[in-house]
Amino acid sequence: MIRIAVANQKGGVGKTTTAINLATALAASGWRVLLVDLDPQGNASTGLGVNPSDRPQSSYDVLTGECSVEEAVIPTKVPRLDLIAATVDLSGAEIELVEYEDRTHRLDAAFKSVEDRWDICLIDCPPSLGLLTINALVAAKSLLVPLQCEFFALEGLSQLLNTVDLIRGRFNASLEILGVALTMYDRRNNLTEQVAEDVRACLGPVVFDTVIPRNVRLSEAPSFGMPALIYDIRCAGSEAYMALARELIGRLPARPKAVAA
Ligand code: ATP
Ligand code: MG
Repeated sequence: MIRIAVANQKGGVGKTTTAINLATALAASGWRVLLVDLDPQGNASTGLGVNPSDRPQSSYDVLTGECSVEEAVIPTKVPRLDLIAATVDLSGAEIELVEYEDRTHRLDAAFKSVEDRWDICLIDCPPSLGLLTINALVAAKSLLVPLQCEFFALEGLSQLLNTVDLIRGRFNASLEILGVALTMYDRRNNLTEQVAEDVRACLGPVVFDTVIPRNVRLSEAPSFGMPALIYDIRCAGSEAYMALARELIGRLPARPKAVAA
């Protein structure tokens, strides 16, 4: 199972929108996908139509050892896409996990028994660099960073990159940055173009060619409890996420057997 953390400690940059729609695009391409909601806000869970009352087990229970990954899995309406939901309990986990000696490796350890059940796992991180995000980065093979095309886009990125270096040095030497996805791209706005140019000049080819446009359908879809790709497959946002999924697949090291067959 290829594990990818979707992280950026900046809030509201499109992490959850990216996680939900990439997961859906990958599932539509035949991949067996697990989406782990690791944000106490539970936006990925709600956005996939799983209401708080339908989350008997959650990522919190997995992290604290209350249940296994298998027990926490909830099937979604999207074929081949499963979810581990988040509940508000998770907001206490940052503090509760400190008690555990293996606090940085809880998620990684929980995944060990389910390596073959899914081809790929996306982990939707909260907007912080606390223990939840660290658990995701320790468990992941690679990192996908959504970056909003706004003036302060690069501010904070250095902090994220420092955290990646720290994780590489101490816990997970092979953690790689799979790509940076520019989100909420608005062609009518000169600043967007300028920011995108600066980001590409600064970060180089790690930035995906595909940009995610600012698109109202992407922001409407979660209130209907469905990915934009299901809500309106023809909208510009859905098309962009399908293109991003193709680009992402091209960057993955090897196609899993089930998909290649
Ligand atoms: P948080 O840090 O709070 O977890 P996030 O990084 O996960 O936020 P999202 O929840 O995906 O960000 O997006 C923030 C808001 O912007 C949401 O209301 C979402 O619907 C909207 N949004 C995300 N991407 C786009 C887009 N490309 N076009 C228009 N609206 C978008
Ligand atoms: Mg989010």
